[in-house]
Amino acid sequence: MKPVIVVHGGAWAIPDTLAEASVAGVKAAALAGSEVLKRGGRALDAVEAAVRMMEDDLVFDAGHGAVLNTDGEVELDAIIMEGETLAAGAVSSVRNIGNPVSLARAVMEKTDHVMLTGRGANLFAESIGVPTLPTDALVTEEERKEWEHRYKRYTVGVKELFNSQWGHDTVGAVALDSFGNVACATSTGGIRNKMVGRVGDSPVIGSGGYADNKTGAVSCTGHGESILKVTLARLILFHMDQGRTASEAAKSSLQFMRKRVQGCGGAIVVSPKGDWSATFTTERMAWAAVDENVLCYGLNPKEELKESLK
Ligand code: ASP
Repeated sequence: MKPVIVVHGGAWAIPDTLAEASVAGVKAAALAGSEVLKRGGRALDAVEAAVRMMEDDLVFDAGHGAVLNTDGEVELDAIIMEGETLAAGAVSSVRNIGNPVSLARAVMEKTDHVMLTGRGANLFAESIGVPTLPTDALVTEEERKEWEHRYKRYTVGVKELFNSQWGHDTVGAVALDSFGNVACATSTGGIRNKMVGRVGDSPVIGSGGYADNKTGAVSCTGHGESILKVTLARLILFHMDQGRTASEAAKSSLQFMRKRVQGCGGAIVVSPKGDWSATFTTERMAWAAVDENVLCYGLNPKEELKESLK
């Protein structure tokens, strides 16, 4: 089985000032995940490595660089899932954790639960020795300024903000390893100015991500409330179960979401045969994939650039 990894850095109206850094960030993450697969590592390890790298990259709204809620605080959501046994772990509304994707993996591997939220997730982190960072350690100066200067003038809701250039770059990865296992991971700070306690699609199984060796793995990004309503990750896999390609399934599901609940977004998909796609209905989505020895990437609609890795 030839291993494949696909990553995204969030689907939204990415401004030109962030374009280059977003593309560089997804390329680096795809390469990091691909290195794991090339060494014979598992899809689960590859998606965790790729997502951790983007959580550490300040350009993305996940881990370090997260956006702030209406109280000016960070609340992070993440999920990880593997397709062999359908094992999954998620955390929601966690604060002061640098790599929520790894905490989600610990929930999967060290507890009998699928999701821990808020204080419970932080207590669990403490109990297994995951370092808690000081308040504000994840917040960039730009985010604090942006929030302080612009927040008070905004009275619009999350949906309107989503279609403007207010930051919200969720990150995600899907992978197929040489043993035929698929996995997905998604991590986010959510949408700037969200209500305190708001949980989006990202940590919710079947919405922000899903992985099943029978059909494939998906990681979603976009307007969380819309993604939740159509359970986007499972919807895409449903279409693949019906015989559609990864790209057809993602396109028709995203179009359905736009028509049915007026929401935009994006998804990355990989099938157990290595068929993959990166699809979005927003203005832009930074994505990258490593398939055999080729690094593919893009930002604008219909853009697919290639670099040989040999
Ligand atoms: N889906 C994320 C959320 O609603 C945001 C994003 O993908 O940019 O929390």
